[in-house]
Amino acid sequence: MSSKILIIEDEEKISRFVELELGYEGYSTTKAFDGRTGLELAETGEFDLIILDVMLPKLSGMEVLRRIRRTSSVPIIMLTARDSVMDKVFGLDSGANDYITKPFAIEELLARIRTALRKTIPEDSGILSASGLLLDTGRHTVTVMGKPIDLTKREFDLLHFLLKNKGMVITRESLLENVWGFDFTGETNAVDVYVRFLRGKIDEMFNIKLIHTVRGVGYVIKDEK
Ligand code: CA
Repeated sequence: MSSKILIIEDEEKISRFVELELGYEGYSTTKAFDGRTGLELAETGEFDLIILDVMLPKLSGMEVLRRIRRTSSVPIIMLTARDSVMDKVFGLDSGANDYITKPFAIEELLARIRTALRKTIPEDSGILSASGLLLDTGRHTVTVMGKPIDLTKREFDLLHFLLKNKGMVITRESLLENVWGFDFTGETNAVDVYVRFLRGKIDEMFNIKLIHTVRGVGYVIKDEK
């Protein structure tokens, strides 16, 4: 069965081009040319993935993203002409799975689509632990010394990846690739921002040392005895 992709993009040239290329790849596509129509279509829950332009008439891409995320975890790839880290961090924190900056090569978009679709396959459930912290991948919960911690999706994914690789130093680039799923091309401070969020909620809150910085390299979670 082919994956169904919704393209919300008001620039007809881009929309038609993406539709054509996705068609060649065997995806079935539906187009919307403004935010409101796009949101209505997204809310039918019929799509496996959504490509969403940031600058849209009637309802902005960011607003469409926020509203979809109230009820759905469908993968969303944002298209944007802007290219600042803050926009990306903001969009990703609002629940976008990925970002692609215009103009983009179709191969790049196709690669992002494959990655995003792959990620929706649920992972085996299991419990990961370090220093009194337990992360339950099946239930999607985190507790420290039995107390539940409230994390955003991005924070959870980052913690999950570091825990899966406990004891190994993970570079910022590797974290971006595996947690964010795309290349920030050098703007790796998004990782530092999110590590700070996690430390605020875990290390500082419980006075433990969970996430260690390896200067000039990246981060590692170690078991503190
Ligand atoms: Ca636009």
